[in-house]
Amino acid sequence: MLPLMLNSAPPANSTASPPEDFGGRRYNAYNDWVKRAHGGRLQKISIDAGFTCPNRDGALGVGGCAFCNNDGFTPGYLREQRDIIGQINTGVAFMRRRYPDAKAFLAYFQSYSNTYADLERLRKCYETALAHPDIAGLAIGTRPDCLPDDVLDYLAELTRRRQIPLELEIGIESCNDAVLKECLRGHDFACTRDALRRAAERGLSVTGHLLLGLPLETRASLIEGAKVLARLPLDALKFHQLQIVRGTRLANRYREDPASVPLMRPDAYLDAVIDMLEHLPARIRIQRLGSEVPPNLRLSPDWGIRLSRFPVMLDARLRERETWQGRLYRSVNNVTYGSDKYCYHSKKYD
Ligand code: SF4
Repeated sequence: MLPLMLNSAPPANSTASPPEDFGGRRYNAYNDWVKRAHGGRLQKISIDAGFTCPNRDGALGVGGCAFCNNDGFTPGYLREQRDIIGQINTGVAFMRRRYPDAKAFLAYFQSYSNTYADLERLRKCYETALAHPDIAGLAIGTRPDCLPDDVLDYLAELTRRRQIPLELEIGIESCNDAVLKECLRGHDFACTRDALRRAAERGLSVTGHLLLGLPLETRASLIEGAKVLARLPLDALKFHQLQIVRGTRLANRYREDPASVPLMRPDAYLDAVIDMLEHLPARIRIQRLGSEVPPNLRLSPDWGIRLSRFPVMLDARLRERETWQGRLYRSVNNVTYGSDKYCYHSKKYD
């Protein structure tokens, strides 16, 4: 029996069924919202503008976060083409073939920390992308400690002046300071909380990036993290499963001692996502449910499942558990969460 099922009956102050806005799903899918709000798919075009990050250039560290090898998340064509317009041309041509129904394209500054430069350079990069006739808006990925007030002010002003969609994507990874320290992240959760608050004060739309399954993370810490995130000004969240990518410190550790980096199976991962979703308010859109590292870079695990199946698998598991996003939101004072020692790596949910 699952420790989770200690709280399987909806508490009195939770909703009794999934909100109708979910459109038949049991979670608030970003893709559904985009189609409603923008009349079709908004496709992101990845860009590598040549930034670095403070955890690589020596400001905070040189080896990067323990799990990071940007090659694992960067399309190959970006390495061959350095200029932003060339990257957009290639990306748009590819995505038009893949998603003929795409309504518009966002330039996605994805590689490394895309606000880690002086304001003039940032301005030039973003406005170069926006000058491309196929680009309707921006998505900008960065760390929470790379968002000084002048950059946030500029992004807010840019959004207003150009009347564009702009998604600021902040790497949260974990809400647990011990986990952040263990993966050599170089900032704590207070830093994330502060960045989210300052971005929201300026009316920016923020997506949080989470990595589930990092060493020292437990079911209890994920649930506690969800309860904290539920009260922060987030518009959307992206969930990712921990994968060991070649060329990372985590890969070295895994090779030396695989037991020191326990990896989740797909069923445990989906249950971890659900444990968090239950505590997140219905307003937070779920933008991503996982990622696929190219097989030549992935050391482990090989789940053999395409990312495109995750939404269906998640909905099926939510139904099986008779739950939905937000079911336990607002009920945090009444719920028993099970053992702190419970860990997704050590038990199978069935
Ligand atoms: S995950 Fe982001 S912050 Fe960490 S090393 Fe990689 S690029 Fe830098």
